[in-house]
Amino acid sequence: MSPKKLTGAEIRETFIDFFVEHGHTAVPSSSLVPGGDATLLFTNSGMVQFKDVFLGTDKRPYKRAVDSQKCMRVAGKHNDLDDVGRDDTHHTFFEMLGNWSFGDYYKKEAIAWAWQLLIDVWGLDKARTWATVFKDDQGNIPSDEEAAEYWRLQPGFQEGHVLYFGRKDNFWEMAETGPCGPCSEIHYDRGLKYCDRQHIEGHVCAVNGDCARFLELWNLVFIQYNRLGPDMLEPLPATHVDTGMGFERIVSVLQDVDSNYKTDLFTESLDVLRSLAGHTEKEMLADFTPYRVICDHTRAAAFLIADGVVPGNVGRNYVARMIIRRAARFGTKIGLTEPFLAKVAESVIETYGGFYPELTKSRTAILDNLTREEIRFARTVETGTAHLQNLLDRLRDTQTSALNGVENLGTLDGHRAFDLYATYGLPFEISRDIAREQGLEVDEEGFKAAMDEHRIASGGGKAMGVIGGEDAEFFAGILKDLQKQKKLGEHGVEYDPYTSPRVEGEVLALVVNGESVASASFGDVVAVILPKTGFYIESGGQVDDTGYIRALIPNPSPERGRESPSPFGRGQGEGESWEIEVTSMRRPSAGVIVHVGEVISGQPKAGGQAVAEVDLARRHDIMRNHTATHLLHAALHQVLGEHARQAGSLVAPDRLRFDFNHPEAMTAEQIERVERIVNDAVAADMEVSPRLKSRADAIAEGAMALFGEKYGETVRTITIAPPLNNTTASQTMELEEAAVHPTAVVEHMSKYSYELCGGTHLDRTSDVGAFLIISEGSAAAGVRRIEAVTGRGAYDLIARRFKTLKQTASALKSSIEEVPFKVAILQDEIADLKKELAALRASQAMSMFTLQLSNVQTVKDVNVMAMDIPNSNADTLRTLADQFREKYPKNGVAVLTSGRTVISVVTEDVVKRGLKAADLIAAIGGRGGGRPNMAQGSLPDGNANEALSKVIKAVEEKLK
Ligand code: ATP
Ligand code: MG
Repeated sequence: MSPKKLTGAEIRETFIDFFVEHGHTAVPSSSLVPGGDATLLFTNSGMVQFKDVFLGTDKRPYKRAVDSQKCMRVAGKHNDLDDVGRDDTHHTFFEMLGNWSFGDYYKKEAIAWAWQLLIDVWGLDKARTWATVFKDDQGNIPSDEEAAEYWRLQPGFQEGHVLYFGRKDNFWEMAETGPCGPCSEIHYDRGLKYCDRQHIEGHVCAVNGDCARFLELWNLVFIQYNRLGPDMLEPLPATHVDTGMGFERIVSVLQDVDSNYKTDLFTESLDVLRSLAGHTEKEMLADFTPYRVICDHTRAAAFLIADGVVPGNVGRNYVARMIIRRAARFGTKIGLTEPFLAKVAESVIETYGGFYPELTKSRTAILDNLTREEIRFARTVETGTAHLQNLLDRLRDTQTSALNGVENLGTLDGHRAFDLYATYGLPFEISRDIAREQGLEVDEEGFKAAMDEHRIASGGGKAMGVIGGEDAEFFAGILKDLQKQKKLGEHGVEYDPYTSPRVEGEVLALVVNGESVASASFGDVVAVILPKTGFYIESGGQVDDTGYIRALIPNPSPERGRESPSPFGRGQGEGESWEIEVTSMRRPSAGVIVHVGEVISGQPKAGGQAVAEVDLARRHDIMRNHTATHLLHAALHQVLGEHARQAGSLVAPDRLRFDFNHPEAMTAEQIERVERIVNDAVAADMEVSPRLKSRADAIAEGAMALFGEKYGETVRTITIAPPLNNTTASQTMELEEAAVHPTAVVEHMSKYSYELCGGTHLDRTSDVGAFLIISEGSAAAGVRRIEAVTGRGAYDLIARRFKTLKQTASALKSSIEEVPFKVAILQDEIADLKKELAALRASQAMSMFTLQLSNVQTVKDVNVMAMDIPNSNADTLRTLADQFREKYPKNGVAVLTSGRTVISVVTEDVVKRGLKAADLIAAIGGRGGGRPNMAQGSLPDGNANEALSKVIKAVEEKLK
């Protein structure tokens, strides 16, 4: 047998279409986060979104449904994590295809349709298809002979291919009580070559056996009982069908590959990974586990983030964090040391975005969260694993001496493993991976217990909820205390985002959950006060800086190392090093500046020494956008006029947004000119110079001040002007003079741009790199908005656009240069086809009309025709009306409609009998006019049939 080769997307589609054809309603997948079900961490089967329907507390407008449900089995009752990566058929995230009957059809149809789809539609081999049904191993519940009989009745079903299994395999229960029933599974024999246990003596391949030869594909659950207690079942008044088929598994069978990962669902991800790792296909397959784990986990993480589950410390967020970190660690096994998961996730979005649009919508969130989490992990993983290794070494030493060479080398205490998480963000699952690689185990219960204790100790929640404006007094109090202790001066925290991207100082205060604390630990969201900061605080549209605050560790002293031999190496004691990722900045009260962030390793303490460093790469992106914003502002003045003043702006790392006053949309030509002028100014390599001066002077010099901004007496100005070394010595003096005193010189010395601005800027315009306008649109009445990118953002945009263009070219089978030409040809073809179609329709209308021509009604001796001719225009109707008059030169009345158009003709003799063409149109509810024998008009409500039904009566009434 060779199964039909369909793509994964087509297989999903044929499943859904098949059941829609059988009266099912296609229902979208529900979120991975179960709605209103606090007991369940993740949606783990198709049933979750229909649970209440089975319980009878929810009703749906349909009785049959079909879906493909996103599932996660990585926590709780269903946890397949151990198998993921090791086998080819279990994932953390997977899709479950299902058809559903809510009190409608039952076993007969469910089994017949499953068979038809698998055998007739998809072409599976009957001889390899097996079914299991329920037979109670405890002898209490009746066997499901009904299902067994239906299987045997299927055309071509092989004798002996129904097998009986007990409660564990073939009885499904929702919970301790509630709906339940027998199930029937479909298994597929993939052939002896799939058996991975041939070398084990006595091994026999079997359905539900322990080798990979028989693959469970599809589970049909028949819900017919309500469980009242351990031994009490009552029949349900209505029976239901709930089925679940592993999508990736059926794809692997239909595409005839020996692993879910070799289906087209993973092709792109594997390709991306392989090219990053520089492996050949053979090399990849020789050590496939890391590839499997990374592809699986990245896909899962992408879907989780799209459903709002971002990496974090507790519950679902912990799972997101864990799988991302685990994927990153497996990356190191194939030599990947830079963040790479976003690149894999791009391919996931590409493969799945069509069916799951939430992925495309959340693209930025997915890519950003993955990379950020990878970066966080990279900062601690090495130290964390070094500590773990020490613990494992010690464990092995003590165990081997105690057990004297016995195989089981021991289990690491769960509290120890939790410490590694709390300090270095090393999730339990990763510690266990590492331990297992060395024949050791980690105690999971202990880890969970320690985690729960910690959560209780740290107050459960961790949001910065309290810090939101109402905490001004609280921080003012902290400021007062610090001033009393002489740790802060009268102006409070010193702010210098211009020259100090790196600042050292004492941790003056740590605030967690609205309380000042002595120390914080991994995962806590903290507010940190230092004596000074170089982090920019959002203002004038420029966003906050982000970065890191770390423990400032003095050079390790050799003595201390000797006094207390540290098991952790690197001369550091536990708890000394810590790091906080700063994600935003606040000024909650005058003189107080806080860095808000998350502890990503260790335990920061108030009073400790720290170093705070701004993320400079990001800051540079921001500066490029800020300087470009000034250039854009100036260019708009040149192209549109002085009225195009700034009305708002956003300066972020990935883009800039600029709102300005202008009454109408810019023309394409104006947009192009502005873009060119800015890029010329970039290329001119002008100098960007900040200066402090009095507000009055700056305004008098013509510096652009922004409406609605508050300015102090001393203001900061940003001048962008051609470099001084391009000017003569006297001009230089003039320029410097001009900067201080507003004189007439300023006019002809023309600065390119001169604005009041507190933001951070480049030194020279050429550092902007490139400037591209992404969009121009309306922001409000009389206000336009431009969005643009620079530097790296511009490069990304060009690269993306280029890729799209390449794909378009390849879809058109042309070179990039030929794309416009090919599109023009296609458009011509479409126009020709449209014309052809119109002609075809007209001739169709004509033959319909001719047919009706001999089939008219007579009213008072007059031949009356009332007819709608779809898809025609007035010309066609008129031609047809002429034909009518040719056939009936006397005693004829015709009313023809198409869409809203109506035409009526009346022969001369009938006009004489008192019936005019326009009157007829009016009589049937239309509007129009013309000659007595021919009129044209329209039907306001567009209901041709209703209008035509009035024709006979109107003729009858008007005819004398
Ligand atoms: P298995 O015994 O293979 O783990 P299961 O009995 O746990 O399967 P069900 O709970 O009946 O599976 O789920 C229905 C279908 O979903 C299965 O028949 C299988 O095809 C698929 N499936 C189950 N778990 C996974 C997983 N972790 N990854 C991919 N597909 C799965
Ligand atoms: Mg399972």
